[in-house]
Amino acid sequence: MGVKIIHPADGPEMHTGEGYGLTQIEKVIGLARANSIWPLPFATSCCGIEFMATMASTYDLGRFGAERLSFSPRQADLLMVMGTIAKKMGPVLKQVYTQMAEPKWVIAVGACASSGGIFDTYSVLQGIDKVIPVDVYVPGCPPPPEAILDGILKIQELIKNEPLRRRNSPEYNHLLHQYQID
Ligand code: SF4
Repeated sequence: MGVKIIHPADGPEMHTGEGYGLTQIEKVIGLARANSIWPLPFATSCCGIEFMATMASTYDLGRFGAERLSFSPRQADLLMVMGTIAKKMGPVLKQVYTQMAEPKWVIAVGACASSGGIFDTYSVLQGIDKVIPVDVYVPGCPPPPEAILDGILKIQELIKNEPLRRRNSPEYNHLLHQYQID
C-alpha cells in the first residue's frame, strides 16, 4: 500500500529561530479569516442546486473551513448570490448585505448573478453589482461545483492578503458611498 502524503495548509511567512517564530499579525488574522469563512447562501434558482452539490460529500466545502452556513446575515461574512435576481429583489439583497458585519465579502455565482445571464428582460437585475459591491464573479450557466470551489479559493486569497486597515480607508468608504451604503 502506498504512503499517502498529506500537506498541511501553508502558514504565513515567518522568520524562525530556535524556539520562536516571528510574523505579522495581519498575516495571521488573514489566514484565520480565510480558513473559517461563514457563507450566507442567497440562492434563488438553478445555481443554488450546484451549490448544494458543492456542500455535499463529493466536493465538500467543509475542506476549506466553510461548512458552517449562516442563514442570518449578522452571523455571516461571505454573501454567495446564486441565481436570477429580479429587480424587485434588489433592495432585499442590499438589506441582507448591509446587515452583515464588516469585514464581509461577496461572490456572484453564475451568469445570472453576475450579469443577468440569458434574462435580458425588464424585470431582471443585470448583475448584482448594480446594487452591492462584488469581490469575485464565478462564470457559467450553471457553474459546476469545481467553478464554485475556484471562486472560494479566490476569495480566500483576497481575504488572506487584505490589509487590516482596508475597511477604514477612504477608497473603501468611497466604494460603499457609490452604492449609497453608509
Ligand atoms: S446562471 Fe444559468 S443555471 Fe444559474 S441561475 Fe442563471 S439560468 Fe440558472
